[in-house]
Amino acid sequence: MAFPQEWMDELLSKNEITEVVSSYVALKPKGRKLWACCPLHGEKTPSFSVSPDKQLFYCFGCHAGGTVIQFIMDMEHLTFIEAVKLLAERAHMELPEEKNDRELLRLRAYRERLYAANKAAARFYCEQFLGPNGQPGRDYAQRRGLVKDIILRFGIGYAPEGWDNLMKHLMAQGFSEKELLDAGLLVKNPNSGRVYDAYRNRLIYPILGVGGQVLGFGGRVLDDSKPKYINTGDTPIYNKRNNLYGLYLQKGMKLADLIMVEGYMDVIGLYKAGVTNAVASLGTALTEQQARLLKRYVDTVYIAYDGDAAGQNATIRGLEILSHEGLSVRVIVFPDDLDPDEYVQIYGKAGFDALKANAYSLHAFKIEAMARQYDLGNENGREQFAVKACAFVGTLQPVEQERYYKLIAQKTGYEIESLREQGKRGEGYTEKPLRFSRGTYRRRSAQDEDQKELLLRTMLTCAVKDKKALAALKAAGAGEMLTEPYKALFAALDEPGFSFAAYVGAQERQEAEKLTALIRDEQNMVEPEKTALDCLKRLQQLDQEDRLSDLQRELKRTDLSEGERAALLQQITNLIRAKK
Ligand SMILES: [Zn+2]
Repeated sequence: MAFPQEWMDELLSKNEITEVVSSYVALKPKGRKLWACCPLHGEKTPSFSVSPDKQLFYCFGCHAGGTVIQFIMDMEHLTFIEAVKLLAERAHMELPEEKNDRELLRLRAYRERLYAANKAAARFYCEQFLGPNGQPGRDYAQRRGLVKDIILRFGIGYAPEGWDNLMKHLMAQGFSEKELLDAGLLVKNPNSGRVYDAYRNRLIYPILGVGGQVLGFGGRVLDDSKPKYINTGDTPIYNKRNNLYGLYLQKGMKLADLIMVEGYMDVIGLYKAGVTNAVASLGTALTEQQARLLKRYVDTVYIAYDGDAAGQNATIRGLEILSHEGLSVRVIVFPDDLDPDEYVQIYGKAGFDALKANAYSLHAFKIEAMARQYDLGNENGREQFAVKACAFVGTLQPVEQERYYKLIAQKTGYEIESLREQGKRGEGYTEKPLRFSRGTYRRRSAQDEDQKELLLRTMLTCAVKDKKALAALKAAGAGEMLTEPYKALFAALDEPGFSFAAYVGAQERQEAEKLTALIRDEQNMVEPEKTALDCLKRLQQLDQEDRLSDLQRELKRTDLSEGERAALLQQITNLIRAKK
């Protein structure tokens, strides 16, 4: 949904950032900013700042930052649109007129119908669980140790035996067959065309969205028949790839981390044992969307999948997706192939906390997974494992290597010195190259990249602060040097009526954080025009150096024709001349 610019401006002006932030945390003035201990991450000395003249906040500790909208998104774990709606409500503003858009209104009304149908269905299943037909469900729940508190907390219900109990009940309430089919509550046999209840003789777990609305259901059989679970497929109001079971329970909680598990019963079992911060991906391998959803709540995620081989593979994929989204990830490994629910039933919360405290890092888990591929009971197995694991450790930062060599030494009994030697040889380990989405940029050493990023940012800070610096940079063609999100910002900076706060407010969270960082050091910037041009010049030099080394590398190829060689030499000569 796009909000009109004037409406957004009004929203921002009626939600003065210091007022909104003050309703969460007490601000103290110092210099041109107001300060507090950051409400988004735990801390004892204030590094959270609000700048009233810019209408932005920035935390020097956790680097969260942006407009009042971003603040509400972070604080309340909301999406951009949800946060805008909350602020509109706070300022008693009507949402922008949508009544002209018939199609949008119709769609929204239809979705509301599906939510209502799901809610009525959830209520029906709960009533059935408690009623005379519910005995099989209650017996099963008792066997699984589902006590009353837990049943109520998770809204667990029961779909009775029979083909049309729910259908009759909901149609009597005025829901149409099409609505119930679209919500996934009924299914249609493609051959006979017969329509019947999707869930029969199953325990029902409603899947709730973060707003508390019922999105869909999971149904588990009461015995060992197959399929064990039936879950709502994609509907107009539910997509399993975008949701996490149990996340709605985390709303308004101050979270240090989240525990990622596989199934409903893991979330519920952990909750019962007192571990209330677990969420599950629903019948799907962890997706990027889910990783981004997690990132809205926490920076650290523990993966706690089943200890079996399938669980191990899912864990490695999950680790990669989560760390790709910038989350810090650790792995809880359960002994004896237990799943999380089984584990806490035996060892309780204390046992779980102990495992969590000893959770593996990403690297350690990879080494553990490698070790499982070999029989460490014999010399050959130990040797093969050591070669592979050392080669992997050899690719890590030198300071990280030490503890992993120790780990390998423990597993194999080899001397750390010889493992280190082996690691230096770097043989026997290959990993798929990292995906790089930066287009034409080739990967340079990390140091080069850091230097470039710093120069870019300083240059842009000057452009944001000072109109003359901006004009000078535009005249010098600096726009061509930039990648997103900087490029778009740079183009927008001299548009009439440009507001940095409004611009940042319209960005995705990651981009908004990057852009907000630009105004962090603004006050310390002197001579912005000169600084900007110096940065640009240095960036151009670095680019030329990169280009030169590319060409020189190219020249070493043995399959070049005389003509190609001559052309390369010409380009190199030109570049060297241009440098002088
Ligand atoms: Zn912070």
